[in-house]
Amino acid sequence: MVMQSDKRSKWWGWGAEDEAYHIPDPDRFWKYVRGRIGETRPRPRLASLAEAKLRPSRLSKPDIAALRKISGGEAVSTEAENRAYFSLGKGYTDLLRMRRGEITNPTDAILRPGDEQQVLAVMRLAAERRLAVIPFGGGTSVVGGVEPVGDGATVTLDLAGLDRVLEIDSESATATVQAGVMGPDLERVLKRSGFTLGHFPQSFRYSSVGGWIATRSAGQNSTKYGAIAALVQSVRLAHPEGILSTPNVPAAAAGPDLLQTIVGSEGTLGVITQANVRLSPRPEHRSYKGYLLPSFAAGVQTAREIIQAGIEPAVLRLSDEAETESSLALRAAPRGAAAAAERVGRWYLGRKGLDLESGSIMILGFEGSEGSVRHGGEVAGRILKRHGAASLGSSPGRAWRRSRFAAPHLRDVFLDNGVMVDTLETSTTWANYLTLHAKVRDALRGALGERSVVMAHLSHSYTDGGSIYYTFLAPQDEGGEIEQWQRVKAAATDAIVTGGGALSHHHAIGIEHRRWMPGYLGEEGSRWLSQIKQAIDPAGILNPGKLIPDLEAGPQG
Ligand SMILES: Cc1cc2nc3c(=O)[nH]c(=O)nc-3n(C[C@H](O)[C@H](O)[C@H](O)COP(=O)(O)OP(=O)(O)OC[C@H]3O[C@@H](n4cnc5c(N)ncnc54)[C@H](O)[C@@H]3O)c2cc1C
Repeated sequence: MVMQSDKRSKWWGWGAEDEAYHIPDPDRFWKYVRGRIGETRPRPRLASLAEAKLRPSRLSKPDIAALRKISGGEAVSTEAENRAYFSLGKGYTDLLRMRRGEITNPTDAILRPGDEQQVLAVMRLAAERRLAVIPFGGGTSVVGGVEPVGDGATVTLDLAGLDRVLEIDSESATATVQAGVMGPDLERVLKRSGFTLGHFPQSFRYSSVGGWIATRSAGQNSTKYGAIAALVQSVRLAHPEGILSTPNVPAAAAGPDLLQTIVGSEGTLGVITQANVRLSPRPEHRSYKGYLLPSFAAGVQTAREIIQAGIEPAVLRLSDEAETESSLALRAAPRGAAAAAERVGRWYLGRKGLDLESGSIMILGFEGSEGSVRHGGEVAGRILKRHGAASLGSSPGRAWRRSRFAAPHLRDVFLDNGVMVDTLETSTTWANYLTLHAKVRDALRGALGERSVVMAHLSHSYTDGGSIYYTFLAPQDEGGEIEQWQRVKAAATDAIVTGGGALSHHHAIGIEHRRWMPGYLGEEGSRWLSQIKQAIDPAGILNPGKLIPDLEAGPQG
């Protein structure tokens, strides 16, 4: 059985094996990076994942035979290379370890169920034999969601076999979808019926519907279409006692919403096998434009007013000054006619008191009917003007749309060259937005040291607040890369939790954020969540060590 496929990202990075990030002007790019973080050294990686040394599978022969009986011999693998691939996600420390073959706690087998009954049978067997079960959708978790934790033998459930769109109800604008369907496959099928889910996380190409629901994911267009929590109408969840199927209704006043307890449960309450999702008509028109704001502070106020005006941009992405400066420095230097046009543009901006390098770029995109796109643009245009913004035209919008799934490939370039690179995210109210933005930025800078780049953008807006998404770079601390990352992550997460931010806006909790859960949810909240887990999974076999706070460990783990 070949477990990695063209639907999965390569083991050592992002995208297909032969795909690489195209740096438009490498000299300019590295000059900027070296100027900020100094010299770094290229870092080798294993030539093949088969070189990783793994401990043998801890499953007994009868366990493996019982698993094979459920799904057929072909659908179970204990082969070391597969076990390595399925034991880590796609976060920075996952890739560091994967590239070095350091898979210290590998899963013991991978089973690819072909239907819901097989998922259920695995759950029952696992409960009986005390085997841990980890659902694996696309494996793009950046919080350790698919990594085994603890001493118990573990079975990873590869959901790629549940890959069908079962039904499209055009009248209700919903679709019934199996959990293992990957983003591009889903959109391809929906397109034929004139629909879209409108859910485009940056990991879209390699992530699954079940993974999106299990992590409460948000996509790049969620400001218009809603994040996955709003797009899911109902789910089916397999757990050791049976199948929980939530009602398939648009809205209900029937007690607390069980569906929303499952959304974001990260495999700790069971395996989502199927979902009904809400669709939108494919947009007839799109308008994506760039604007330059005098400052990030002015941009945040503008974003708030746009959202509170009731128009629904598909994308409202506002880079802070540092991100604006980096994105300009990292593009190819304009030449010939483009350089002349840029000189004229800069002169025009200067007359308005704006400067590209010290301003804040906003990408504002509208989608839908011609009328709604025009109306959105007009309302936003008035607000932008009031805050001193200048239009940069549609080329920044086009460029953003063209490259919006490309940035993760750049992470591979940095990893190859000894650069620490990661992202983290939170959300907060508008009233607290700039305070938290500065607090987390300063915490990151403090932990990273002078040789670093810290930048951020607003990517998801709500009437009451917005998300903040940080990207940071620094030279790797050779030999202490994981400890370096842990130090930086802890400083930033402490700042987020004490500063009134969400522990995660869309990356989920997994292993990486779990120790902050008691501090974030408070004692009562943590106890409730732990008790729900205890009631559903008394044996503690469902994705153990993720999400659910460890109450014994105290407020900071
Ligand atoms: C480069 C990159 C960009 C990203 N961009 C975004 C983004 O824009 N927005 C965003 O929200 N996230 C983003 N992420 C994070 C990640 O892609 C999301 O968390 C995504 O929802 C995970 O989907 P997946 O199918 O890969 O799930 P996996 O990584 O396979 O699993 C994630 C978690 O969900 C559990 N799980 C998976 N499937 C099921 C199921 N069927 N039932 C129960 N539990 C299940 C797993 O056990 C694990 O705990 C990004 C990640 C990367 C690497």
